[in-house]
Amino acid sequence: MTLRVRFAPSPTGELHVGGARTALFNWLWARKEGGSFVLRIEDTDLVRSERRFAQGIMDALRWLGLDWDELYFQSERLPIYRKYVEKLLEEGKAYPCYCTPEELAARRRQALSRGEVPEYDGHCRNLSEAERKRYLAQGRKPAIRFRVPEAAKETSFRDFLRGEVRFRRLTTGDFVIQKADGTPTYNLACVVDDHEMGITHVLRAEDHISNTPKQIWLYQALGWDPPQFGHLSVILGPDRRKLSKRHGATSVEALREQGFLPEAVVNHLALLGWSPGTGEEVFTLEELVERFSLERVNLAPQVFDLDKLKWLNRKHLARLSPEELLVRAKPFLKGLPEGPEEKVARALALVRPGISTLAELGEHPDLVAILSRPELGQDVLEELSKPMAQEALRAVLARLEGLPNVGLRALVNEVAGELGVSRRGVFHPLRLALTGRSQGPELAGVVAVLGPEEVRARIEHALSVVEETTGGV
Ligand code: GLU
Ligand code: ZN
Repeated sequence: MTLRVRFAPSPTGELHVGGARTALFNWLWARKEGGSFVLRIEDTDLVRSERRFAQGIMDALRWLGLDWDELYFQSERLPIYRKYVEKLLEEGKAYPCYCTPEELAARRRQALSRGEVPEYDGHCRNLSEAERKRYLAQGRKPAIRFRVPEAAKETSFRDFLRGEVRFRRLTTGDFVIQKADGTPTYNLACVVDDHEMGITHVLRAEDHISNTPKQIWLYQALGWDPPQFGHLSVILGPDRRKLSKRHGATSVEALREQGFLPEAVVNHLALLGWSPGTGEEVFTLEELVERFSLERVNLAPQVFDLDKLKWLNRKHLARLSPEELLVRAKPFLKGLPEGPEEKVARALALVRPGISTLAELGEHPDLVAILSRPELGQDVLEELSKPMAQEALRAVLARLEGLPNVGLRALVNEVAGELGVSRRGVFHPLRLALTGRSQGPELAGVVAVLGPEEVRARIEHALSVVEETTGGV
């Protein structure tokens, strides 16, 4: 039997970290085993589902590098669900419920005030034909409920990650499988589709554990073998509370906009419940496919940690070639002076060790300083107006011809020796003249990116500005 797994998001918002983790684990498993990964958009909730969210989820999955083998929209399959609801009705395993939302809410409140479990009370379970006719005549549109035997509520199932999961008494009345508007509910559509699509294993998050018995009852009622079920651990924020919007941007889309690489996001998601068991932490998607195994999935609550993600992002940024770095950085470079691609790529590589996200590149002062001739501020001019600073710059200028052969370090050493100053006494004014800043990336790198012409021009420019402002020496 070949493995068939699925990711079944409801398009009611962006793809969040939890959903993306579920998608990734299913995808990794399928790719590892040579199975199929099915994407099923669960958009039968006409009120909350939106096409743009489905599009956004698919874009986010693609961006992460998670491709799918088959794609389904539940909204295009409504007749299939209706057919099975009909069947359950005919066999008496389901029945129409004419209660209005207001009536249900009122009876719920009463049950709660009596200290009872507020389950559906079975009001329409055994209506006579006459009662049904009367309700219909009142213009009521029935929902369809699944008949749950009381005895079934003490139940259990085998979870392929957790082992036996037991319920002393599952809190559920006869639950709705088809809403009054004729659309199926999640549990019904999910069961019909997992069966029809030949899903062998359902791997999803812990919050679906209590749905699983309901789904198994539906399989039994429809005469089908259920798939295997496994439930991943819950994801927490750094404060160890369930991850939610309160913890800031937790959608894949938001992480992308913040300048995280898909490699880093995938890497962090993978570590939310899986570990290689070797202490290694940095993996590409391909490496994850190779290493992933369900045996190494653990069920402890997992913390989604932005600092960890930043750390991983730096690791993955460091692996990019300058050309690739430029491709990834482009959307974030707005507000920066443009230059020849090759120069920009090398400048990016130069500032890369100091950044955690691509977004930090937009208007990055070190990049600005390299890509355009810097403004020399008042404090810089003051520094450069010291005679020794000017002397050092002139001495560098005089030796610039030899720079390609000697290298910057040796050249600075020579100048320092000749003038009897420290190396810093040469490096510092040079950095100020070239970038207008007293700190920044390694100076030899800056010099290499600027090239000899531009280095000369900037030093000469700095000297002349200093002369102007000090009225000549
Ligand atoms: N549409 C459901 C959700 O997004 C799918 C749950 C499942 O995997 O069965 O939570
Ligand atoms: Zn009812």
